[in-house]
Amino acid sequence: MNLNHHIAGMPAGYLFAEIARRVKEYEANQPETRVIRMGIGDVTRPLSPSVAKAFADAALGMTTAEGFHGYGPDGGYPFLIERIIRHDYQPRGVDLHMDEVFISDGAKTDTGAIQELFSADARIAVTAPVYPVYVDSNAMAGRLGRFENGRWSKLVTLPCSFDNGFVPELPRERVDVLYLCYPNNPTGTVLNRAQLQVIVDWARAHDTLIIYDAAYKAFITDPEIPTTIYEIPGAREVAIECCSFSKTAGFTGVRCAWTVIPREVKGSLPGGGTAALNALWRRRCGSKSNGVSFPVQKAAASVYSDIGWQETARTIAYYQDNAQLLLAALGKTGLQLAGGVHAPYVWLKTPGGMSGWDFFDYLLKTASVVGTPGEGFGTFGQGCFRLTAFSTKDNTQEAAARILDAINKL
Ligand SMILES: *Cc1c(COP(=O)(O)O)cnc(C)c1O
Repeated sequence: MNLNHHIAGMPAGYLFAEIARRVKEYEANQPETRVIRMGIGDVTRPLSPSVAKAFADAALGMTTAEGFHGYGPDGGYPFLIERIIRHDYQPRGVDLHMDEVFISDGAKTDTGAIQELFSADARIAVTAPVYPVYVDSNAMAGRLGRFENGRWSKLVTLPCSFDNGFVPELPRERVDVLYLCYPNNPTGTVLNRAQLQVIVDWARAHDTLIIYDAAYKAFITDPEIPTTIYEIPGAREVAIECCSFSKTAGFTGVRCAWTVIPREVKGSLPGGGTAALNALWRRRCGSKSNGVSFPVQKAAASVYSDIGWQETARTIAYYQDNAQLLLAALGKTGLQLAGGVHAPYVWLKTPGGMSGWDFFDYLLKTASVVGTPGEGFGTFGQGCFRLTAFSTKDNTQEAAARILDAINKL
């Protein structure tokens, strides 16, 4: 049989494997040293007890005739959709219809699958450095051309760097879809209302669809920073939004997320005419998914209970404190820094023009601290480095002190 050569021809996704290999080698040579991992993009705090109880109660309920649930609605249970709309959107002045929210098992799943709605020749744009899922999923579908010298021939990249303050310059060429992620992974940066309005206005003027990944919105502390793209007038016509309980409520191992597709978002059909993306996505999910398990959706709904929300907010605050610790320590180095305020990531420019990988090796050997080289997020991450706030407070404090020491030795 003939294979999908677009998948076969993908560059190896070697970042975390390569990091693990270097750390293992270092640990083998330095068995008495305690390595601190500040590179992982996964939460570490345990699930909130009230959420776990809702999860367990629903699972045990499945042993009774009344509590048993088979296949649920494709797009998710109304009890969860209703809570998402009431807690995440209405307080920001955004109202959504129940049929505009689709529950899924992950924002990775949805941001990866949403490209099934685009034509085979759709032009894709991403900000760079970038969360790899948007690029990889389109590359596998054959939309990005050839991979040469670290870049895809047909992908439009909008660089975000210290030079432009991490505000992307909008493309001059025709683009069908623009992926955005705010608060951003990996840079930890955000866009304010005015900056997002410029992008939404541009998308409306150019008939471009925005895929807005708001997986880190729970980390936003300033009311001037939108937590949803739908706070921006006009966004309902051009934007799809993907959110997740993963970083908000520690669901990386539980799996629950949602995608919003307003009824107004439309695309063109080859013979002329348009179709609503909401209807297409519903059709697609009906054929390819049976949704998320009942206990998981009960657990997600309990995140919005009074106690669930308090416990969840405490965990977010814990990570935010870690980010502050990192920023305070790194601030003494004079290095250029971004993020860490509305996001669990601190992005820095490496000292002395080192590559991200050279700085990785230097920190590992000098401080026994592991971070993520910017090159892991594409060529536009060159010479940068990501540290995460997802460790324990003790480890973060210790790592911050060690990093400061190591940089002072340069
Ligand atoms: C962690 C993360 C997600 C969340 O993905 P899930 O599949 O819901 O766990 C989505 N987008 C970005 C940019 C992320 O870093």
